[in-house]
Amino acid sequence: MDFELSATVMTNRNTRPDEPTRNTMDPQCELSVILPFCNERECLPELLERLRGTLDPTGLSYELLFIDDGSTDDGVAYLEEAAGRDERIKVLVLSRNFGQHIAATAGIDSARGQMVVWMDADLQERPEDIPRLIDKHREGFDVVYARRRQRRQSRLRAVLSNAYLRFLNRLAKLDVPPERACLRLFSAKVAESLRELPERNRYMAYLIPWTGFRSAEIEVEMDPRRHGETKYSITHLVTLGLTGLTAFSTAPLRVAAIFSGMTIAMCLIGVGFIVYRYLAFGFVVSGWASLVVAMLALHAMEFAVLAVLGEYIGQTYTETKHRPLYICARAVNFKSDAPTARSLARTDALGSTRPAPAERLEFSPV
Ligand code: UDP
Ligand code: MG
Repeated sequence: MDFELSATVMTNRNTRPDEPTRNTMDPQCELSVILPFCNERECLPELLERLRGTLDPTGLSYELLFIDDGSTDDGVAYLEEAAGRDERIKVLVLSRNFGQHIAATAGIDSARGQMVVWMDADLQERPEDIPRLIDKHREGFDVVYARRRQRRQSRLRAVLSNAYLRFLNRLAKLDVPPERACLRLFSAKVAESLRELPERNRYMAYLIPWTGFRSAEIEVEMDPRRHGETKYSITHLVTLGLTGLTAFSTAPLRVAAIFSGMTIAMCLIGVGFIVYRYLAFGFVVSGWASLVVAMLALHAMEFAVLAVLGEYIGQTYTETKHRPLYICARAVNFKSDAPTARSLARTDALGSTRPAPAERLEFSPV
């Protein structure tokens, strides 16, 4: 079934700033759980069972929104089958891997609930904690974060990420504790604010606090990963770290000013020393080693400044290209008026080899 996307579906990133955005909240849906995943096939059956086992007794109307971030296993086929039996299960299949934070953005764009929960799909976070998030939210908090009681990370990763977050908190003037889990709940109001944010450079751990709504925390236990492995290598983490740094502060650009101040000071000291030696002892030619070291130090500083500039220019370039933030290949169990993605492509145009689900919507290209 083809249908046209209303302009408001493509909220911020693809639209002109003067275009109105629409509140996508559905009064019939009290809770949306968004679950970005990439190659988590082995976790999905238990995840579904525990989510339903937790949410059914609450009596809430809910949707489970799975966002496939370029999986290469058969997780999507499994979910499509489950979605055929339960219309509360919805699946957005992104055309490739866009990264967890962009996949979560796709989920937030499509979430219709009055409350939105975002959690990992690898069972490290427990679906059973969702009712506690809801209780806290009902005390009057727009955002409720989960704080892990104990961290399940290598010592090196914990030390590095603690140092990084402390640094970024200072720069961004926000307070994101290192123990914060991905599991969180926010209101439709917050979801709507996030849809308004136009940037492609998305570091959700800071974008959500940046919206500034009243927030609270609950403490949770985390489980070890039982299936598969973490998708975050050191390179991945460094890239994400740089994204956060450049998205939330321009302070590193000032490094050039600091370096030039230091260089000028060192020059003045050096010139003073030479003049003093000349006046006191007559001219003496000293070794070349100190000269080479000084030259190397200066070049290192220049390259450091260039690297910082390059990082910001790169990010600016990415923003100015105005590419869609993600492309959704297909959507399962969405109603025709559902906002599903920032950009949609025909499934057949992408040559999908996945089996056609019973209730699959295909969108006209935009
Ligand atoms: N994930 C994703 N896209 C990615 C990387 C990860 O959707 O490119 C999902 C992953 O399937 C999991 C969640 O994000 O549901 C957290 O990833 P992971 O468990 O690898 O991170 P860690 O818990 O090790 O920080
Ligand atoms: Mg994990």
